[in-house]
Amino acid sequence: MKVCKFGGTSVASAEQIKKVAAIVNSDASRRFVVVSAPGKRYSEDIKVTDLLIELAEAVIEGKEFEDKLQKVVARYQENAEGLGLELSIVEEIATDLHARIDEASKISDEYLLDTLKASGEDNNAKMIAQFFNSIGIQSKYINPKEAGLIVNDAPERAQAQPEAYVNLNLLKNSSEVIVFPGFFGYTKEGVLRTFDRGGSDITGSILAASIHADLYENFTDVDCVFSANPKVVNNPSEIHEITYREMRELSYAGFSVFHDEALMPVVKLDIPVNIKNTNNPQAEGTRIVSKRKGNPRPVTGISADSEFSILYVSKVLMNREIGFGRKLLQILEEERISYEHIPSGLDDISVIIRKHQLTPEKENRIVKRVYSELHVDDVYFRHGFSMVVVVGEGMKNNTGLAARAATAISKTGANIEMINQGSSEVSLSFGVQEKYQELIIQALYEEFFAAVAAAR
Ligand code: ASP
Repeated sequence: MKVCKFGGTSVASAEQIKKVAAIVNSDASRRFVVVSAPGKRYSEDIKVTDLLIELAEAVIEGKEFEDKLQKVVARYQENAEGLGLELSIVEEIATDLHARIDEASKISDEYLLDTLKASGEDNNAKMIAQFFNSIGIQSKYINPKEAGLIVNDAPERAQAQPEAYVNLNLLKNSSEVIVFPGFFGYTKEGVLRTFDRGGSDITGSILAASIHADLYENFTDVDCVFSANPKVVNNPSEIHEITYREMRELSYAGFSVFHDEALMPVVKLDIPVNIKNTNNPQAEGTRIVSKRKGNPRPVTGISADSEFSILYVSKVLMNREIGFGRKLLQILEEERISYEHIPSGLDDISVIIRKHQLTPEKENRIVKRVYSELHVDDVYFRHGFSMVVVVGEGMKNNTGLAARAATAISKTGANIEMINQGSSEVSLSFGVQEKYQELIIQALYEEFFAAVAAAR
């Protein structure tokens, strides 16, 4: 049994949805189809999820919203017409959006945002199931509430709970193809909550783990994962096989092909993931597995992400002070801030944080508290950093790799503000100023892949 997830561009138009149907029809083991909301049809297009967020914001701000609602409906109408479906489904979608707004207005703004965002995948799944049936693919739309996809109560960032896997397992006995909307679940109390953005990947993974699928196929719009961002590096080499750990590191830092949270459920059961292209389903794609067979080269990929901040703290003899790190992290915990890395020296420590978690007020409070409670010599925030990550299982025990990377970076003129290598040695991260990000990726690619590229 395979679970297939189709991303936004794969279900953006009637033409794309027909490709999805052909893919599902061509393989009888494709029994579970998870769908995103309609995504971009061309590069300047707006995803339905983003239209829904605009709609929610208009409602929250008490502005006129009918135009925005109709924009969403128009996307479904175009698809329904192109698929030859009865237009009653479009009316149902308009009614559904109004009902969600009415219901949520009595509850909370965050619920309104979640329920409207989720409607993107929910209504799309209904439409796609209807289309499948109209062309003879026996299928059934399943609502995550009915199926028991239980999540915790975290608006916009929900996580599946253990009972979800038990409940969803029952779906495996269905004789019809299941069409399941991605991106959301329900709390035990029955409140809808969405996953993080891009979270339909997570739904696919939960479903694959629940039914113990043989394979999780993740259909998108690229032939495979590349060793570096093709927008930054010219014609980067293709990755046909990658380990879970490598993929986790790469998707954490800027590889948007597969959500990093989507790996955990499949890793536990060792279910392989195959990233494939809806527009070119014959291409082998990229397989994410627990152990890679071929590819002896040390580095598999290079990625980067921006908008990091550094909290810098220094105090002489910090290394002798018991509990210093804990007290510092406790202050961050009380401000509800998670950290990414904590490189440290003898008398100083830096905490790397994603900037979106900070506000000027929070920064002020943190600086004041660190001064007064930890009696430090200096403490301040710095912003505008990127983390550039070099990833590869083959890096382990490979001498001189950090030196090669650092030399390549130095050629760009950038100062390395931080270096971090986890003990698993799957990745080497460099904190640098944002403005050097692209140059560094190019320099590192040249260093580690030029020979490979030349041999192609
Ligand atoms: N539609 C949602 C988003 O745009 C989820 C997804 O497509 O995976 O974030």
